[in-house]
Amino acid sequence: MNILVINCGSSSVKFQIIKTDLELIEKNQDKRIASGYLERIGSQALITLQVEGQPKIKQAIPLRDHRSALDFILRWIISPESKLNGINSLADIHAVGHRVVHGAEKFTMSTLINDEVIEGIEDCIELAPLHNPANLKGINAARELLGPGVPQVAVFDTAFHSTMPETSYLYAIPYQLYRRHKIRKYGFHGTSHRYIAYRYRQLANIEREKVNIITLHLGNGCSACAIKNGDSFDTSMGLTPLEGLVMGTRGGDMDPAIIEFLHHKEGMTMNEIYAILNKQSGLLGLSGLTNDMRDLLAEEKEHEDRRARLAVDIFCGRARKYIGAYLAGMQGADAIVFAGGIGENSSEIRKRICKGLEFFGLELDEKANNKIVAGKEGLITKPESKLKAYVIPTNEELLIARDTVRCVKNVPRRW
Ligand code: ADP
Repeated sequence: MNILVINCGSSSVKFQIIKTDLELIEKNQDKRIASGYLERIGSQALITLQVEGQPKIKQAIPLRDHRSALDFILRWIISPESKLNGINSLADIHAVGHRVVHGAEKFTMSTLINDEVIEGIEDCIELAPLHNPANLKGINAARELLGPGVPQVAVFDTAFHSTMPETSYLYAIPYQLYRRHKIRKYGFHGTSHRYIAYRYRQLANIEREKVNIITLHLGNGCSACAIKNGDSFDTSMGLTPLEGLVMGTRGGDMDPAIIEFLHHKEGMTMNEIYAILNKQSGLLGLSGLTNDMRDLLAEEKEHEDRRARLAVDIFCGRARKYIGAYLAGMQGADAIVFAGGIGENSSEIRKRICKGLEFFGLELDEKANNKIVAGKEGLITKPESKLKAYVIPTNEELLIARDTVRCVKNVPRRW
């Protein structure tokens, strides 16, 4: 089957075409055949397209909205110009998998989309006002352009975390606020944590129920997940992605009284305060320079920039604090796994996070750590290390494509 995977942001669309079916999944032989990124939708859009194994094609054209962006993508996919093997018309796109950020308590697994599911996703908008409306735009456009004959599947960022116990997901605020408004920790990046856990299980050659690890998805957004007996037991993001680790532009954990304080001292509105917490904090806020970890590491090294060093140290310290908390909460783990742009590419950050974990029996193998760069996976601790560390490049799109196949074939599963 040719599965179109779509990830819509407020002014962007990422897509992949993945060839997969139940047999290919079983053999781990399913493959991406094309991908692309369309940004600045709503004005002159910047478009990057790539057929696997070939150079990227870049262009700029005006795109009014998500529907015109998807229309452009579909035309390119079936055009002779892309020369995609076995895809000559829209009938060769067999199903669509959509990333949906918030599924609240309603969606605990990936789901075939129908009118009722769309209503359910709409109901979750108040919990993810920035993300779910964009995801819905992608779903509606794909349904309109491909027609009812092409099944569409929603894969939720929150679903993997639906196994968290109450003791992990409840905030210690009056219980009726949870009852009334469902205020609780939901967690995000679930598809990523789930994929990492699945790959770890393959690498370690163990059953799902034996997976006891802490996964760190460190990209622009960052989150940690404690995976106990194969299920999400706790995670660092909360009701929204603001909670937890230090991220590119989000500060993660802080005293909520800061919000009231900012309102009084700076005369800021709620919107202004949330803009600061979402877009101007984290690595960017601390360093005053950039949210880009690569640039911060370069500034630190080349110019000994004090604030760049501080930002990186606080970033690593927070990650370590979560590892310590989760090791205690889940009564020990077998491994820590790094993923995401930072986790997969930066041996320096991995080393700095691991430094101090010797106490838990983690012995970093510096050579192995330095060897793992972009796209590679493997063990980075010494073989005798009691607590192991791995790098596993995440692949949310592959999991979305696989879930799409499983839902279409009526064999859905949590893992
Ligand atoms: P997103 O969450 O937007 O998908 P990514 O997972 O691509 O983001 O991660 C982006 C982050 O990864 C940026 O902070 C970037 O600087 C960082 N990064 C990428 N390559 C490296 C590298 N070689 N060293 C350090 N950081 C890197």
